Amino acid sequence: MSFDSSDLPGATGGSFKGRGRQYLRLLACPIEGAPLAQEAGVAICGDDRVHHYPFEDGILRLADTAQRAALDAISDEHEARAARDGWRSPDEDAFKSLPQTGLSGYPENYWSQYAAATALLWRYLEAVRAQNGALPVGPVGEAAVIGAGMGWLAYALDVAGYATVAIDALAGPRYGLGVFPIARFLRVQADPVRPPLAPGMYDVVLYQEGLARSGRETDEVTALAQGVAALKPRGVLAVMNAFADTLEQVETVQARLLDAGLTLMDLPPRLNWRARVSERLDQALGRNGTLPPVIVARKGS
Ligand SMILES: [Zn+2]
Repeated sequence: MSFDSSDLPGATGGSFKGRGRQYLRLLACPIEGAPLAQEAGVAICGDDRVHHYPFEDGILRLADTAQRAALDAISDEHEARAARDGWRSPDEDAFKSLPQTGLSGYPENYWSQYAAATALLWRYLEAVRAQNGALPVGPVGEAAVIGAGMGWLAYALDVAGYATVAIDALAGPRYGLGVFPIARFLRVQADPVRPPLAPGMYDVVLYQEGLARSGRETDEVTALAQGVAALKPRGVLAVMNAFADTLEQVETVQARLLDAGLTLMDLPPRLNWRARVSERLDQALGRNGTLPPVIVARKGS
């Protein structure tokens, strides 16, 4: 029953190089939540063999037939709209430089705001690592990125040592999970409102575009409940919203996290070696009246 990333389709063809880690145990059947096993290049539900999910273009398609069609429609629409708007699709080097070096055609400040949000996220994750007594290098656990888009943040978490799963409906080749085909993180096309994550397996669950892209309360509450269930005890849940423009939006997310039984984390104290980065962050954060682009909370033990 063990599943190793080296068994993944494409592993021998160079399209997936997942550090030899076990990834399928981090996911669940989207229909009833049963564990998955790998067999003949597909992921198969442990409860009902009729539920099976293919890898296509190196991306696990973790949705039933009807849902898959709906996800593809969302993905196709996104590809068409981004192309129409003139967004540049990154090559490998450009992808690896995100978000610090942005892509042309995107809205003004889009990438600089993501860069600020990402810098703040690292500050939290470093504080968590220090609290956990972990070494500054080495494996740091499991992470999920929900609403991962092209996967640039999942890539960064992978580089930082997390075994990372990237979830999105968006799986297209130019503006979705298909952008970076040599990813070591596992790319999964699935419903980001009901991300099919195995319960209790993650050290970090990260929402990249708010709790739900739709901004609908029911979607946000549903997506949050799934993420909380996926966390290990003391796991960290982070909600990135690089484009929050009202205090109300921030407070709404904070209230939802508290309602879900999580404890909000304070902004970590400065680390000396990052003082210069922190200076810039302070300007980007509350100290000049702007809003925090990341809210982080912890699950209880
Ligand atoms: Zn199933």
